[in-house]
Order: sequence, then structure tokens, then C-alpha cells
Amino acid sequence: MFDAIVIGSGFAGSVTARMLADRGKKVLIIEKRAHIGGNMFESNDHTGISVHWYGPHIFHTNLKNVFEYLKQFSDWFSYEHRVLGKIDGQLVPIPFNFTSLEKLYPQKMADEIKQKLQAYYPGQEKVSVLDLMCCKDDIISKFGEFVYSKVFVNYTAKQWGVPPEKVDKSVINRVPVVLGYDDRYFQDKYQAMPCNGFTRIFENMLDHPNITVQLSCDAAKRLEMDIENSRIYFDRKLWEKPIIYTGAIDELMGYEFGMLPYRSLDFVFEQHKVTSYQSAAVVNYPNEEDFTRITEFKYLTRQEAQGKTTILKEFPVPYDVKAEKGNIPYYPIINEDNLALYKKYKTCTDKFGNLYLCGRLAEYKYYNMDAVIDRALQLAESIGS
Ligand code: FAD
Ligand code: UDP
Repeated sequence: MFDAIVIGSGFAGSVTARMLADRGKKVLIIEKRAHIGGNMFESNDHTGISVHWYGPHIFHTNLKNVFEYLKQFSDWFSYEHRVLGKIDGQLVPIPFNFTSLEKLYPQKMADEIKQKLQAYYPGQEKVSVLDLMCCKDDIISKFGEFVYSKVFVNYTAKQWGVPPEKVDKSVINRVPVVLGYDDRYFQDKYQAMPCNGFTRIFENMLDHPNITVQLSCDAAKRLEMDIENSRIYFDRKLWEKPIIYTGAIDELMGYEFGMLPYRSLDFVFEQHKVTSYQSAAVVNYPNEEDFTRITEFKYLTRQEAQGKTTILKEFPVPYDVKAEKGNIPYYPIINEDNLALYKKYKTCTDKFGNLYLCGRLAEYKYYNMDAVIDRALQLAESIGS
């Protein structure tokens, strides 16, 4: 009866399902959680404040096609994300910029460093902290080391549970040093938030006569992977039509080659009886605290509520599927060994002619939502018409 099965209803699964449904395919979505939207899920907490239950999510992209696609499912308001970091007791812009520099250095030194940076990187808007530290100019390299030690070292160690040298450079380089006064967290061309929240986007996307969603349903219990013959059984019957899988690849393959490492988070929400808790949407705590950042959701949603607000503290924890805290694989841990293990799984799944992997977990990539959506749009195009 169905033409395709999609496992997972985050952006990877929902966009693929909707694209196939628009082409006349009857699609079954299986979602193990009790709600749609994957990690983008947003709803009101018990005090009526809208929160992102799986961490703060801000839309930003340079991909026009992705933003245009999403506009079908929601109105958007323009939103530029700003983050402060608590460094030496002061709140300074993150990414570290000229304002941060002026706040933390004596004026004469700050002026000298700014001049050096402008002379060394003419016309450049941002630079990696890792590049700054390797700079031949002594003043610049010392400045790089200062920023690295105050902003990156402890935050990265907390977030990833290993010393920063062991973390892939691409992760550190997600947050540059800004050579100017731009204090936005992202520099992308399109930056916006959905007027009615993220969950409404998924509701609209999946509201289609060709889409059936089954919630609270673990695909692992209904799928059987015959690795030897590269065949998939669904509800004990051979399934030869497309199956799009957006969960963890190692789980799908029964951990055949061992577990892929992930990092997880313990989210602690707090309700406060004040209209505003902090002076920015997110405040990062690189050093003294056990958590990495605090988000105040009202900044992200524009919700107006007098005398109440909800904040979220993020405590990084090891991923353990059986643990009470840390049982969701939020971040793939990018390094050579883990990518080699992923490749082993991928080589195996490639042999299944009707299996398509999409998303942060299935592809073991540190994707932002726009990249996942772009990938899902391309994947859906490529699945036989
Ligand atoms: P998911 O949203 O994880 O969806 C996968 C779905 O599959 C889940 O619903 C899961 O329950 C389901 N599933 C898994 N296994 C099974 C199974 N066996 N059976 C049935 N269902 C199954 N990106 C941004 O662009 N901006 C941000 O500000 C941002 N902030 C982030 C903050 C945090 C803390 C995290 C962790 C990520 C953030 N991201 C952000 C990234 C963004 O969350 C992801 O890129 C995007 O949500 C990935 O979508 P996905 O569909 O691949 O995965
Ligand atoms: N990072 C840091 N200090 C900060 C912000 C980020 O050290 O104040 C590093 C850290 O290693 C983090 C990475 O930069 O994991 C990427 O940060 P981003 O904010 O993109 O992480 P995400 O929102 O995906 O958790």
C-alpha cells in the first residue's frame, strides 16, 4: 500500500517524505518519539513559555533554495542571533570581536592589536583562532592564545569531554574571531525564525493526504536487516521499495562493527518569575561553570509574557543509550577513527539497493538544519520517480 517508508520525522525525514508525497508517492513515516519534528520539537512548558526541548535552534543559511522551500510552511521573522560569553567576570560578544577585545584589554594594547589585525588580514571579516595562534606576528599569536584559552579551551573540553587538541579543527572553526564590530553569532545571508514555532512547520509539512505518520513506534522492532543478502524485511515481509533512514546508522545495522561514538547533553530547564533573565538570547560560560551555555527562549520566539521566563542550561555528558541522562546521540564525534568506522557501516549499507541514509545521525555529520534540508531535497529528487 505504501510506496516508501521514512524512519524519523526530523527535517531529514519530513522533507524527504513531503517531497515524495508531492510526487504522488504514498509515504509511511515511523517515529519512535511521541511527537514529530525530531530535535527541532518546540512546545509550551507548564508555565506557557514556548521552549525548544532539544536545545536552542536558530535558522541561518546561505542556501536560498532551502529558505524558499521552508517559506511554504511558515511565515518567518527576521532574527539575528547574538551571544555573550562570560570571560573574567565580564559579558563580551561571542564570536570574539573588537568589542570583546576592547572590554578585556587596556585601551592602548587593544588599539595596537586591532591595528595589527587589520594590517595582517586586510579586508578579511573573520579568521580562525587556530590561524591566529600560528601567526608569525608575535602580538597576533599572543592575542590568539589569549582568545583560545579564555573562550575555547575549557568550553571545548566540557562540550566534548576530551582536550581541545583532540577535537576536529572544523568544530572549533564553527566559531571564528571577528575582525570588526559585527556581533552576530552567524554571518549567513538568511537569518530568521518561524513566526509560529518550529513544530508548526512540521505539522504543515506532514499534513498531506499521501503521508501517514506513526508515532511512538521504534523502527528497530519492525525492520530486519539481512546483511548477508542486502535485503530488508519490514513487519517480516521483504520490502523492496525505497526506505529512507534518518536514525543512527550503527543502531540500524545492529552494531555489527561496534558503537559509533556520540556526545550527549543533559538539558536543565528553569522557570523564573521575572520578565527577562539575561541580556542576550544565549550566554556562554566557557570557564568556571559545569554547563556550557544558558538560553532564554523568549528572545528566540519573541513571546511576550510579563513576570515569567524559561531558561535552559546545557550540561554536556557522555552518550550512553541505557543511561537516564545522555541517552540521546546529539553530536557525532568527528575524528579519523570514527569516520573510518562510519565508512565501514556505509560500505555495508550501500549494498542495499533500496536503502537511503539522510541526516545528522544516519550520515554521521555535524549538520546544521539547513544542510540537512538541502540534503533531503536532493535525496528526494534522486529517488526514482
Ligand atoms: P533529528 O532531528 O535527530 O531526527 C531524527 C529522528 O529520527 C528523531 O525524531 C528520532 O526520534 C527518529 N528516530 C531515530 N531512530 C529511530 C527509530 N529506530 N525508529 C523511529 N524513529 C527513529 N542547527 C541549526 O541549523 N541551528 C541551530 O541553532 C542548531 N542548534 C542545535 C543545538 C543542539 C543542542 C543540537 C543537538 C543540534 C542543533 N542543530 C542546529 C542541528 C539540528 O538539530 C540538526 O541539523 C537537525 O535537527 C537534524 O535533523 P535530522 O532529521 O537529521 O535529525
Ligand atoms: N566553542 C567554544 N566556546 C564558545 C563557543 C563555541 O569553545 O564560546 C567551540 C566548542 O568546541 C563548540 C564549537 O566551538 O563545540 C562549536 O560551537 P557551536 O556554538 O557551533 O556549537 P553547537 O551550537 O553546535 O553546540
